[in-house]
Amino acid sequence: MGIPLRSLEPQFLIYAPENERVIWRHTDMMEAAQGVRFLCPKCFVENGGADGTHGVVCWSRSRGVPDSASPGPGRWALVGTGFDDLTLNADPPGDARSVQLKGGCGWHGFVTNGEVT
Ligand SMILES: [Zn+2]
Repeated sequence: MGIPLRSLEPQFLIYAPENERVIWRHTDMMEAAQGVRFLCPKCFVENGGADGTHGVVCWSRSRGVPDSASPGPGRWALVGTGFDDLTLNADPPGDARSVQLKGGCGWHGFVTNGEVT
């Protein structure tokens, strides 16, 4: 049983750091995206919706985000044409396809073909 990525208020991100803080800009064009942000599926379920639910940010090394960017060290390849078929794959030299939060709620899961499990 998964959650459609669409229901987690996803946004494509462009890496745009300023003043030592990671700042991103949003883009509607997946071709230009360097990362993706969506609501934590675990907390979304526990909270019964978006209220009080934190976001998850996944950056892509192969789309030009430096390893020093936060959050890290996980990096993903963005595959697909949009939110409805997005898959997060391993981004070499990383070999992990899953997304795992170190700390906080500790969510560990996958984004596959537009579904979060
Ligand atoms: Zn969470």
